[in-house]
Amino acid sequence: MIFEGLAEKLQSTLGKLKGKGKLNEKDVKDAMREVKLALLEADVNFKVVKDFVNKVKERAVGQEVMESLTPGQHVIKIVNEELTALMGNVQSKISFSSKPPTIIMLVGLQGAGKTTTGGKLGGLLKKQGKKPLLVACDIYRPAAIKQLQVVGEKLDIPVFSMGDKEDPVNIAKAGISHAVKNNNDLVIIDTAGRLHIDEVLMDELKNIKAEVKPHEILLVVDSMTGQDAVNVAQSFNEALGIDGVILTKLDGDTRGGAALSVRSVTNKPIKFIGMGEKLEDLEPFHPDRMASRILG
Ligand code: GDP
Repeated sequence: MIFEGLAEKLQSTLGKLKGKGKLNEKDVKDAMREVKLALLEADVNFKVVKDFVNKVKERAVGQEVMESLTPGQHVIKIVNEELTALMGNVQSKISFSSKPPTIIMLVGLQGAGKTTTGGKLGGLLKKQGKKPLLVACDIYRPAAIKQLQVVGEKLDIPVFSMGDKEDPVNIAKAGISHAVKNNNDLVIIDTAGRLHIDEVLMDELKNIKAEVKPHEILLVVDSMTGQDAVNVAQSFNEALGIDGVILTKLDGDTRGGAALSVRSVTNKPIKFIGMGEKLEDLEPFHPDRMASRILG
């Protein structure tokens, strides 16, 4: 379960405040020291932790809190609000084009879950009434095209491919023409990933972006890689410009550092989360629900 350790520590630290009745500045400072440690142990970015704790401290030692009859509960409310703010406050949705098809380009490193997520996202949006087409532009990883076809078949979503000999830019363009002809109002482009970020990868993605002008570029990153995921997000955002993040494998991430840091570091929202290997295991990301999960 995500936030396992963090939830336990925060709930016990803040629970102590609740039992205290009146609070003084030292009580809040001591509690915030423990909150800080718990966040760092959950692999949250150091600067994010520092800013977060300072914000909570500043609000929590305010007169209104200190003089209230339930100061502990006030502090918990502040922590909840600031955690929610850290993750972007409100759910960030896909912005569909008024002139279909809406084009979503999925990018990310190999193994992050891009191909699977492409199918999951198609399935989710199909349930909402869209008519998706998956486009196979990952021509380098053996079996990536086949994998997308298998996923498409399971979900009854068409997959456009031109094999592995054609230039991905051409495949993407042909895929969109195919979508227009076949009344698909949503195109999801699965692009190639590499083991590391390199110039060749970025150049290819930049070329696809320039030709296709996607409405959304979503970065798929593996939550379990913690701060590496945040660094990857930062690099992709700087090099390519992304519109949002899909955080995969949250079901296997007990710490949750990426979920708590990525928005604040990149200023780009988490739009969806992967919660398992099955094709229905993709959910919209709700910052408020995540914060409540941490605080119980
Ligand atoms: P790609 O190289 O980025 O296209 O990655 P794949 O789509 O092939 O996914 C790599 C592995 O991660 C596969 O075994 C997927 O089943 C798995 N995977 C993807 N998303 C999730 C998720 O949200 N949870 C879990 N547990 N596994 C996932």
